[in-house]
Amino acid sequence: MSVIDTIAWFVYLLAAVLFVVGLHDMNSPKTARKGNRISAFGMILAVIMAFISLFVKGFVSTTAVIVLVVGIVIGAVAGVLSAKKVKMTDMPQLVSVFNTVGGGAAALVALNDILTSQGGPTAVVLVTAGLGIVIGSVTFTGSLIAAGKLQGIVPGKPMVLPAQAVWNNVVILATIVSFVLLIIDHSHTGLWAVLTTVFAMCYGLLFVFPIGGADMPVVISVLNACTGTAVAMSGLAIDNVALIVAGALVGAAGVTLSVLMAKAMNRPLTAVLSGGFGGGNAAAGGDADGPEGTMKETTADDVAVQLVYADKVIFVPGFGLAQAQAQRTLADLGELLKGHGVQVSYAIHPVAGRMPGHMNVLLAEANVPYEELIDLDDINPQFSSANVALVVGANDVTNPAARRPGTPVSGMPILDVDHAQNVVVIKRGRGKGYAGIENELYFEDNTQMLFGDAKVELQDIIAAVKELID
Ligand code: NDP
Repeated sequence: MSVIDTIAWFVYLLAAVLFVVGLHDMNSPKTARKGNRISAFGMILAVIMAFISLFVKGFVSTTAVIVLVVGIVIGAVAGVLSAKKVKMTDMPQLVSVFNTVGGGAAALVALNDILTSQGGPTAVVLVTAGLGIVIGSVTFTGSLIAAGKLQGIVPGKPMVLPAQAVWNNVVILATIVSFVLLIIDHSHTGLWAVLTTVFAMCYGLLFVFPIGGADMPVVISVLNACTGTAVAMSGLAIDNVALIVAGALVGAAGVTLSVLMAKAMNRPLTAVLSGGFGGGNAAAGGDADGPEGTMKETTADDVAVQLVYADKVIFVPGFGLAQAQAQRTLADLGELLKGHGVQVSYAIHPVAGRMPGHMNVLLAEANVPYEELIDLDDINPQFSSANVALVVGANDVTNPAARRPGTPVSGMPILDVDHAQNVVVIKRGRGKGYAGIENELYFEDNTQMLFGDAKVELQDIIAAVKELID
């Protein structure tokens, strides 16, 4: 092994250790920022080392160096700007776009390795690079559509083709056949590599188009796992340890998250992977067969009275809290009530918001003590003893329709908010939740609606509570 290879191995090993330490620090909101910085530093080291290694070995021409430097600068500027500018509520779209770029890059690296291998690629390269192409291409188109659905550019509703299952099977078969021919037919390697890419990209589209909005968390996690796996495969093909380790870590983290998210949504992962999943019937929980009765409106003053005279209050945050950036205002209300002797806790649904852990991150940012954030399984038995459940911009994760079959949220574990003695829901109007269906909770006898922006209404409640306490 040459000196530069030995140095590269050590640097990649160091980068791998930094990735693992960084990931470990991400276990807790207190150390997560540090973990992020440590992992980013590891990635910068690996990128610089890969660049130096290529340069010293003379594998790249001067033109290629210029192209690489320009690419690194454009990528870095785009990454920093988008991470700084994108709002917390739009993070899932950003993650999906990053998955698109990651999957696409892994597929391109693998494709390039096959097409430019001196003396033809070996069997190992063909298998690993071929897998990199398949998984990376599925991730590329699948993540692009997922990002479009989350951004509202592509309709969030399930979009199913006539005879969708047949199309799925035909495209899967075509991908497998071209992948196998890529490995065994050495006279047309380029053709089979390109066809494998095209068929796998088609499957990415068929995979994500039929999936409904409420099932997106699981899909994004699965695509994230795919990005990692594609990167690891490409790393194996080009023999780059840093890519293998980084890809394997992302892949493993993505799989773990997918399993946890699937459990949180009560959806079998196998159903996600076969596509056409999570459609449900919006009408079953929506307009055609929606809840009966009327919504009862209330005022901030009235809500303040209920809260001040309560012994136990449970806050139920959802996507609307993030949208209104009202996390600090909610935390202030919590502090005020606690100071008045009211027991306050926060019910955390694992998929409330638009990404895994969204509510934990928001409330940690507002310095809500971690022990006050109570998970679904632990908080649900507590609702019946709560005098008030204050729902702030949460919709689908509180919808009792999930308890019966046939709706897009059927089977999803929900927060048993309707078991509380009194329920107050803050939302701007009669808009539906992410799954596109009406919420039966809003029509229950013990539910009152406080219509308005979450931040504004919480500020009004705080003012009224202060007047009552003084
Ligand atoms: P929902 O998206 O179901 O509902 C949010 C509610 O907030 C809306 O009904 C909206 O009503 C209200 N709202 C929006 N803006 C404001 C505002 N400024 N002030 C007050 N209210 C506001 O949120 P949930 O958190 O209950 O459910 C999350 C959904 O998203 C689930 O279906 C989940 O599966 C899905 N999902 C979750 C992901 C995750 O990983 N966590 C990822 C992708 C999807 P109105 O317009 O009337 O104000």
